[in-house]
Amino acid sequence: MSEKPEEEVETRNFIENIIDGDLETKKHSKIITRFPPEPNGYLHIGHAKSICLNFGLAKQFEGVCHLRFDDTNPEKEDTEYVESIREDVRWLGWEWGENNFFASDYFDHLYDFAVQLIELGKAFVCDLDADQVKAYRGNLKEPGKESPFRNRSVEENLDLFEGMKKGLFEEGSKVLRAKIDMASPNMNMRDPALYRIRKVNHHRTGNKWCIYPMYDFTHCLSDMLEGITHSVCTLEFEDHRPLYDWVLESLETPCHPQQIEFARLNLTHTVMSKRKLLKLVEEGHVQGWDDPRMPTISGLRRRGYPAAAIREFCDRIGIAKRNNVIEFSLLEFCARSILNKTSNRVMGVVNPLKVVITNYPEDLVEEMDGVNNPEDDSAGGRKIPFSREIYIEKEDFMEEAPKKFFRLAPGREVRLRYAYYITCQDVVKDPKTGEILELHCTYDPETRGGGSPDGRKVKGTLHWVSASKGVWAKANLYDNLFTQESPEEAGDFIEVLNSESLKEIDCIVEPYLKESLAGDRIQFERIGYFCLDKDSKPEELLFNRTVTLRDSWAKTKKK
Ligand code: ATP
Ligand code: MG
Repeated sequence: MSEKPEEEVETRNFIENIIDGDLETKKHSKIITRFPPEPNGYLHIGHAKSICLNFGLAKQFEGVCHLRFDDTNPEKEDTEYVESIREDVRWLGWEWGENNFFASDYFDHLYDFAVQLIELGKAFVCDLDADQVKAYRGNLKEPGKESPFRNRSVEENLDLFEGMKKGLFEEGSKVLRAKIDMASPNMNMRDPALYRIRKVNHHRTGNKWCIYPMYDFTHCLSDMLEGITHSVCTLEFEDHRPLYDWVLESLETPCHPQQIEFARLNLTHTVMSKRKLLKLVEEGHVQGWDDPRMPTISGLRRRGYPAAAIREFCDRIGIAKRNNVIEFSLLEFCARSILNKTSNRVMGVVNPLKVVITNYPEDLVEEMDGVNNPEDDSAGGRKIPFSREIYIEKEDFMEEAPKKFFRLAPGREVRLRYAYYITCQDVVKDPKTGEILELHCTYDPETRGGGSPDGRKVKGTLHWVSASKGVWAKANLYDNLFTQESPEEAGDFIEVLNSESLKEIDCIVEPYLKESLAGDRIQFERIGYFCLDKDSKPEELLFNRTVTLRDSWAKTKKK
């Protein structure tokens, strides 16, 4: 038995336990896993779970993880997706080294394996059309019927299969099927298709092939060819495992990877299938695959989620055999916990109200000292210009304020972060509408830096930005993409899109942010975490709000 502290053994998941066992019994000496995306869309947070699991296992057990593109559906696949998938896996922090493969690299081998199955009498060319195949298949209660073409001779099958390969037959007129058991209680075992005719270009093999292998035939053999030890996939493939094993056993392959299933990730307030995400993109409900409201890795990245937060999230949700739904707020929690440690603080006012400090000299600009990150001394400090006119948040002022309102109100005094105490003397309103236009305040020159020499206490500290030195910017504030917790259950998920998922606002920020670069993440003090959009320019800053500072739901929802 291995000598592990008890606690560690207890927290291991069932896949780690299987691998532990296989190493102990010497079934394997080196672990090889794979992440097998189909390049038919961008990766989403569900894929991140699979990536972190497969690459994580390889790292933990000092093995390797292959990145294999499962590209057997030429119509839907594209090199754009291949590139984006590579970028996303790397960005998440994983490396495949030499081990980037494509199922299409194995098309020659797969063809040979299919020929072998025919020679073994375990596969046949079937002329039934799709509707007939369906009718012959039976259902969960009734066994299927054998195809009238099932007993073709090996020679005839070899001949026809070669004809399929040469393009002699029309699409849909023939398929190669496994000969297994039309009465099997497992529908996947009722003579499943292995090859179909598709006269279309493939993103890698061009027009070399006009027959393409099916997923179930391709996957197990690709795993085998790569010497995968543990083929980890999601639960919906559990019923396909007998077929996975049947193919490898029938061909008596030199190695036989073990398929292990785990529960896929489901998240509240979003959809997580590439088909649905593609629909959102194609119909223009979002601005692209990397729209910051999308649950895609590229969307989350653009939104400002650090890779470490996504890894942390995948770690926390764990690996289980039972399907469940995870609250989106857990992902936000992970983002906050990483961003709190890593992002610099700045002051930004998202709903500006002008304040004129009437006793402050007109042309004076003072440089106040700000701390960049109280969680990280190495982040240093910065200078923040202070001037006679500043902006504060509208929400930080109330004309008729209750006693417990510790912010600004007529006659009340507050601290301006890193600057002075100010007292509100006057409220200037639009005579017609009554709207508050600006506040007139006085400052106490003795309180520079935010402390008072006479020990006078103020309860509230407000953030602010100099009106003359601050920089106007745009910010995107995001809300859930869907109004319902489970949009998939809504019938048509498009119907429950949140029409207010994006709000664009003008804000004013410290001039120091002009030097920031696309992708930089910062905290607007008291407001939230923001990230500079990829389209941001120094003269036209554009921020995406990653997440608010606190969980705005936590207060209203009992867990
Ligand atoms: P989708 O249903 O979103 O189109 P998919 O399963 O068709 O996803 P693939 O490209 O085939 O997408 O997936 C690659 C790998 O990622 C597979 O091993 C799959 O099991 C895994 N995966 C996909 N979605 C999830 C999820 N929500 N949670 C965990 N793993 C997932
Ligand atoms: Mg798939």
